[in-house]
Amino acid sequence: MIVVLRLGHRPSRDKRVTTHVALTARAFGAQEVWVSTKDAALEKTVESIVTRFGGEFAIKTGMKWREAIRSWKGKVVHLTMYGERLDDVLPSIAKEDLLIVVGAEKVPREVYELADVNVSVGNQPHSEIAALAVLMDRIADDDTLYMNLDGRLTVLPNPRGKTVIDNTKEKGQGRARPR
Ligand code: SAM
Repeated sequence: MIVVLRLGHRPSRDKRVTTHVALTARAFGAQEVWVSTKDAALEKTVESIVTRFGGEFAIKTGMKWREAIRSWKGKVVHLTMYGERLDDVLPSIAKEDLLIVVGAEKVPREVYELADVNVSVGNQPHSEIAALAVLMDRIADDDTLYMNLDGRLTVLPNPRGKTVIDNTKEKGQGRARPR
């Protein structure tokens, strides 16, 4: 079980980045994303992707982050450029249930204390999306990136164009035109 907790989301400023945090979490094998600020529009955007592309992924916004961290039964992994090296902590977290915490603006000091591990993906400042993707890729099973989520739409590998199957259509009619 992997859940991503997004702290400090500001609906007006962070809509796009938080959406991408959620979609990255989903695509790399998390089951849920929790966002500390209530944002119904964000929920709708992510749920619409899940409806079309499948899977059981859930988004919850307006989560009380302190309670979420304190009540988590597995390991709490806070992604921060100030943390320990990813390679050093991977063996202790790879097989655990993870609550992965990413920030937006300045992350409260308390999060560093509450986390089981503070983990860096390199020690340069970059992005919560990049940090999340790298961590999740390191802990993913071999088939995670191409898992079949039984969605309404299925994307097939295509060396040039786009091939999308609409599984709600009769066989032979669902193959979208290459674009
Ligand atoms: N300035 C903020 C602070 O000091 O807490 C961080 C802002 S940064 C744009 C947003 C988030 O990206 C961070 O909270 C962290 O989760 C993630 N992040 C950025 N660089 C990272 C790195 N090198 N390793 C791990 N996480 C990183």
